[in-house]
Amino acid sequence: MQQHWKIMVWLLAGVLVGLGLQRMTEAPGSIGVQFAAEPIVVDGNAVGIQITRVTAQLLPKGRSTSESLQVGDVVRRVVINAGMADEAAVDTDSPAALTAFLQKEGAGGVATIELVSGGKRSTLVELDPDSSRSTWLAPFRFLADIFMRLLKMLIMPLVLTSIITGVAGLGGGSDFGRMGRRTFGYYVTTSFFAVGLGLILVNLIQPGNGARLGLSVDADFGQRSENWLDILRRMIPENVFGAFTGNANMLQVIFFALLFGFFITKAPEKPKKILTDLFEAAFDIVMRMASWVMKLVPYGVFCLIVKVVGETGFDVFRPLGAYMLTVMLALIIHAGVVLPLLLKVVGKISPIAWVRAMSPALMTAFSTSSSALTLPTTLNTLKKRGKVSNRTSSFVAPLGATVNMDGTALYECIGVVFLAQYYASAGNFELTLSAQVTVVMAAFLASIGAAGIPSAGLVMMLTILSALKLPLEGAALLLAVDRPLDMCRTTVNVWSDTVGSAIVAAREGETGLAESGSDQHAPS
Ligand code: ASP
Repeated sequence: MQQHWKIMVWLLAGVLVGLGLQRMTEAPGSIGVQFAAEPIVVDGNAVGIQITRVTAQLLPKGRSTSESLQVGDVVRRVVINAGMADEAAVDTDSPAALTAFLQKEGAGGVATIELVSGGKRSTLVELDPDSSRSTWLAPFRFLADIFMRLLKMLIMPLVLTSIITGVAGLGGGSDFGRMGRRTFGYYVTTSFFAVGLGLILVNLIQPGNGARLGLSVDADFGQRSENWLDILRRMIPENVFGAFTGNANMLQVIFFALLFGFFITKAPEKPKKILTDLFEAAFDIVMRMASWVMKLVPYGVFCLIVKVVGETGFDVFRPLGAYMLTVMLALIIHAGVVLPLLLKVVGKISPIAWVRAMSPALMTAFSTSSSALTLPTTLNTLKKRGKVSNRTSSFVAPLGATVNMDGTALYECIGVVFLAQYYASAGNFELTLSAQVTVVMAAFLASIGAAGIPSAGLVMMLTILSALKLPLEGAALLLAVDRPLDMCRTTVNVWSDTVGSAIVAAREGETGLAESGSDQHAPS
C-alpha cells in the first residue's frame, strides 16, 4: 500500500480507538458527570452548569447516597482539596473553563462541589488519580513519545546541514539573491493574505460578540507590553552552541546557518570544497535517517491521534464553537482556494497532483502539530514525491518550517480579535480600527517568531494580548481547544511551505514536479 494511504488508514483507526476510549473510560479529574454545553444564566449572570448525565458515583466511602450528584443538579463552584496547601477553586461560569480546570488540577484528591439546585448544598467526590483513561492511554502516550523523540532528534542536524548546503549550493552570487527574494516574497505575501482573510472573517462572523465565556470582565487590563524588536534581537544567538541545545531556538540556528553557508561561498577554493563536501555528506546521511524514521510515520500517527482524541474528546468544544468554526473556515479558504490558486497561476502546477504528492507531510503535520517535527518528512516528501531538487527544497523548506506559518498567522488574528470582541461586548474595551491594524502587524510578526512546535502560536498570542492591553486569562480558555486547531493550522503551515517550494522550484526552471506520485526514484 502506498505510504499516504497507509497513514490515512492508521490516522482514522487512531480517531476510532481514541473515541472508543473516551466513551468507555473515566477522564482524569472527572467528577463523574457530564455537563450541559451552556451555563444557566439568571439576569445576565451565569449561575452554574447543569449536570446532564451521571457516569460514575465517586462519593468517598461511608457517605450516604443521598449526597450523590444527580442529573439536573446545578454545579456552582468546585473546590479541590479544600483547606489544604494545594487548594484550587473555580466558579463554574462556563463548561469549557470547568473542564480545563478539572483536567489541570484534578489529578487526585477530593473535590467539594457546591450546588444551587433545590437550595444551596454541597457534596464531596473523590477524584480518581489513576483514572482508567490514563491507564489505557499510557502505552499510546509512550509510543507516541518515542516517535516524537526520533523526529525531534533530527531537527537540529537537518536544519543546520540543509540550510548550509542549500545556501552554499547557490554560490553566493545572483542565484542566492534571486532565490532569497522569491522565497521571502512568497512567505510575506501568503502570510499577509492569511492575516487579511482572518481579519475579514472574524469581523463578518463576530464570534466573540456576546459570547458566554465565563471570563471575569474586570480582570487586569493592560499588563506588560512586549517590544516587537525583541523578535529581531533574539534571532541573533549570543552563543551558537547554546542555540543548538534547544529546539525552540530554531531562528538562531537558521540565522547562523544562513551566514555560515553564505561565507562558505566567499571562501577560497580549498576550504570551500572541503566544507561543501562535508555538509553535503552530512546532509545526505541525516536525510537517510529521516527516510528510515518515515517508515514509522503511520504507526506514530496512530499513537498520537489515539492520545489526542482520547485525552480531549469533543465536549470542550461546544461553547467555543463559533470561534473554532471561524478559524477552520479561514484555514479551509486559505489552504483550499488562495494557495492552490497561487500554485496554479504562478507555479503552473496542478494543485490536486501536488496535494496528493505532499500528503505524507501533511498528515504528519496534522498528527504532530509541529512544523519542525514534520521537517524530516517534508524534505523527504518534497524530494521523493514532489521531485523538487535538493538545491531548492533544502533552502525553502527548513526556512519555511520556522518563518512561514500562514495557519498560525490567521489563527493569531482571529483569536485575539475574538477575545477583544468579547471584552468589547462586555463594555470594557474598545476595538478600534487602530487596534485591528496592530493585530494584523502583530499576528504577522508572531507567525514568524513562533517556533514550529505544538501550541507555540498560543504562547505568541499572549504577547499580542499584552500589546493590546487585554487580560491574558482569555488565552488560557483558548488552551482548552487549542490542540485540534493547532493540528489544523500546522497542516496549513506545512502545506504553505510545500506550495512555496513548488513555486520557487518552478520559477527556478525545474520541471517534472509532482509528476509521478510514487515513493521511489529520488532525483540525485
Ligand atoms: N504548531 C504550529 C507549528 O508548528 C505553531 C503554532 O502553534 O501555531 O507550525
